[in-house]
Amino acid sequence: MSTQTSEEQRVIDDVNKQLFIGGEWRDATEGGTLAVEDPSTGESLCEVADAQPDDALAALEAAGEAQADWAKYPPRQRGEILRSAFEIIMDRMDDLALLMTLEMGKPIADSQAEITYASEFFRWYSEQAVRIDGSYSVSPDGNQRILTMKQPVGPCLMITPWNFPMAMGTRKIGPAVAAGCTMVMKPAKQTPLSMLALAQILEEAGLPAGVLNVVVSSSSSDVIPPIISDPRLRKLTFTGSTPIGRQLMEQASERLLRVSMELGGNAPFLIFEDADIDDAVAGAMVAKMRNVGEACTAANRFHVAGSVADEFAEKLAEQMGSMKVARGTEEGAEVGPLIDEDQRSKVSELVDDALDKGATALVGAEKIDGHGYFYRPTVLNDVPKEADLRYEEIFGPVAPVFSFGSEEEAIAAANDTEYGLVAYVYTSNLSRALRVVEGLEVGMVGLNQGMVSNAAAPFGGVKQSGFGREGGYEGIEEYLETKYVAINLPAEAPRFDVGIQ
Ligand code: NAP
Repeated sequence: MSTQTSEEQRVIDDVNKQLFIGGEWRDATEGGTLAVEDPSTGESLCEVADAQPDDALAALEAAGEAQADWAKYPPRQRGEILRSAFEIIMDRMDDLALLMTLEMGKPIADSQAEITYASEFFRWYSEQAVRIDGSYSVSPDGNQRILTMKQPVGPCLMITPWNFPMAMGTRKIGPAVAAGCTMVMKPAKQTPLSMLALAQILEEAGLPAGVLNVVVSSSSSDVIPPIISDPRLRKLTFTGSTPIGRQLMEQASERLLRVSMELGGNAPFLIFEDADIDDAVAGAMVAKMRNVGEACTAANRFHVAGSVADEFAEKLAEQMGSMKVARGTEEGAEVGPLIDEDQRSKVSELVDDALDKGATALVGAEKIDGHGYFYRPTVLNDVPKEADLRYEEIFGPVAPVFSFGSEEEAIAAANDTEYGLVAYVYTSNLSRALRVVEGLEVGMVGLNQGMVSNAAAPFGGVKQSGFGREGGYEGIEEYLETKYVAINLPAEAPRFDVGIQ
């Protein structure tokens, strides 16, 4: 028997569960569907259309057909559509948050925070749509004029993960709409409902048919390659794991597609002896526990100065141990389930490996029996360097604490990973803060704060965390090409001697 309340059923019923192609909602070829599960119960919430390769190509065709007209659409109107979608999202916050919690598991407060963040990309890029410019200059020899103009890249394929079902989409859709690109969006099969609801909102906000097309599929490895190898596609933008990112890069190399990659992370959180420990614990709670630890920006390892490591670990354990673990819809829930049993098993194996190698569990370190994929918030102290979780993305509510001796040792430990997305630094010494920030091999740093995500800032990584930036002034550049025009305009003879010998 279903455990959904009537309110939950209503928000699920409100979502169109078909494919969105060329401005029309339609069933998948062969009429197939896939189930969307509630990770807190393991029960099916509903079925959505399951796209086949032909559906994906139909979506690309719609995007291709809409591209030329969309590129000519007045920038102000593109911005107004985004602004209007922003307003609708804010008006429907409660329903959208409930929907997101049902399919992804995170507590309602986390879903609300994501929706606020997600909608900010529409507001920010509604303001940027009218600020796309070029340049005009005189060539050094005076015989030409150099004109540069920015034009939309063209149809884009967007692939997003399940952990932020709406924000990972708006971070791409916002700048693409502002730039005048059309899109084929493929959300993760675990969490398609938030993206389908977003497509309905954009349709309502006036986005022309074919500009955004959404296909959900149980078989990404079948539906994605035909799109990538089609000459109508101009760009691939992917957010997800590093191994899948590598595979997609390989496929994209055949046609030298423009590519943006927002990949995995292994964020170090550094705490120096001069830091305010209570502030560091508060920052750690955000960096670790936001989104149940299932964030690419989640603090993956805490490197703490030896003199304060135990104090930090004990205070963190006290706070993490007192968090309410419950279905995300429950009043006061602070920690929801993990997305599925595979993810929970991976977290559990990483913790067991650290314990086997000598770490001490201060709190947690166990699965919670019963329905759903719950894992208890966990703090591990005295974690040895050899523990696998020092090098692998945990993606769960587990905080391993390592200690360091010197500043150089801390920087070396932070950089000792193939990833380079984000790092967090807590210190009250300005010179040290700048030295450490300059020494970190990452795309983003949280300095005395546990969160970096901001629609007005460039989000992205280095090393195996990918390349390209989403958000800020930089984010729209991912969707623009620069065209240069050489204008013949020979210099007239100088009318006076400027005195250069
Ligand atoms: P994932 O397994 O790489 O999946 C991401 C997306 O790729 C999903 O839509 C998935 O679809 C699709 N996909 C999977 N296999 C594919 C294939 N062979 N061909 C084409 N598409 C394929 O990652 P995830 O487990 O969903 O997400 C977690 C990862 O995302 C973590 O590593 C996290 O760090 C990273 N992430 C990075 C950022 C960032 O901004 N840097 C932000 C959020 C998350 P299906 O699953 O439906 O098949």
